[in-house]
Amino acid sequence: MELLIIILVIVVVIGGAGTTLLVRTRRRVPPPRHRAQGSGPATDTLQAPGAAQAQAPDTAEAEPEVRTLPPDVAAPPPAPPTPAVEKPPPLAGRLVRLRGRLARSQSALGGVLLSLLSSDRLDDETWDEIEETLITADMGVAPARQVVEDLRTEVKVAGTRDPAEVRALLREELLSQVGVDMDRSLHIARHGDRPAVILVVGVNGTGKTTTVAKLARALMGDGQSVLLGAADTFRAAAADQLQTWGDRVGAPVVRADREGADPASVAFDAVNEGIQRDVDVVIVDTAGRLHTKAGLMDELGKIKRVISRHATVDEVLLVLDATTGQNGLRQARVFAEVVDVTGVVLTKLDGTAKGGIVIAVQRELGVPVKLVGLGEGPDDLAPFEPEVFVDAIVGS
Ligand code: GDP
Repeated sequence: MELLIIILVIVVVIGGAGTTLLVRTRRRVPPPRHRAQGSGPATDTLQAPGAAQAQAPDTAEAEPEVRTLPPDVAAPPPAPPTPAVEKPPPLAGRLVRLRGRLARSQSALGGVLLSLLSSDRLDDETWDEIEETLITADMGVAPARQVVEDLRTEVKVAGTRDPAEVRALLREELLSQVGVDMDRSLHIARHGDRPAVILVVGVNGTGKTTTVAKLARALMGDGQSVLLGAADTFRAAAADQLQTWGDRVGAPVVRADREGADPASVAFDAVNEGIQRDVDVVIVDTAGRLHTKAGLMDELGKIKRVISRHATVDEVLLVLDATTGQNGLRQARVFAEVVDVTGVVLTKLDGTAKGGIVIAVQRELGVPVKLVGLGEGPDDLAPFEPEVFVDAIVGS
């Protein structure tokens, strides 16, 4: 009997110790990750403020905190805010606002011209230098000669070297070359229940797609409703770029569902959609592959024909990169031969001192520069104003 009691006591003691051990072991099991959906960062977004210690895996104290997370922590993360539609500044007066950028790129030209013109020895050699300076600024040989000829006469008649007077003479001469009387307005009035249509053409890389987007923004800033057609179907990136801009400004974009689709059919759909949605202006971006002249003619001709079935193409804007000089002028010539260009958009004028291209391209095509690009920003597009431009060259 005594032996039995001793055995019982031993069993009870050993059993109690084992239970204690088991309890301790359980407590040391790290708390389970409370959200199963994966990686650290995702779990982090579900943490309540101040619950940081709950992540410490092997502390017994951590466990209760994890279990007492407030119920709202389990709610899904808030949806990302929908981007607000921006309201860009209106087009009018933009060149004055961007004047600093224009002056930065163009004033070197004016500086050289003015110092030559007001030098004491205004002989043949100096006049040659003036002509060379103008040609180097991409003005073209014939206009440069004309400027020199006119200025020679005027300086002689005025008999002056006074810097202010010389500046006034140069200003007048450049203004007459740039042309103050050309109609530079965009023809974008609706036709009854039909939207106005702008076709934007030009070689890839000139800034065509960016220009379409900037123009859409500007027109919307002016209170017009705009729809974009991504008829550059050869580069998916171009349609994506346009889509992004469209989303930002709140302009719908009609695009192909696959790369390489027929650009004319996209243009057709865009105009159709523009009519359905009753928008004011449809802007169609086109592909700028200068493969062959015949190919380009076919493509742009077809786009124009197809649009004309139910709307009027009001503007054909040719986008030219102002930094490309003679090459740009060659492109301009080809495009002007295949489609009736109604206006030129000179991009990257902020990146070149060769503002003479304005005069050269107008002379080459007989159509005005209507818009200029002065940077990569969304609002760096401005209507071209001869006075502001010339003042940026000669300093005012
Ligand atoms: P696309 O191939 O003709 O459609 O050309 P993109 O619109 O893609 O533009 C080509 C590059 O030129 C991009 O990096 C633009 O940001 C840049 N760009 C366009 N316009 C201007 C401008 O007026 N000034 C400057 N500095 N860059 C520009």
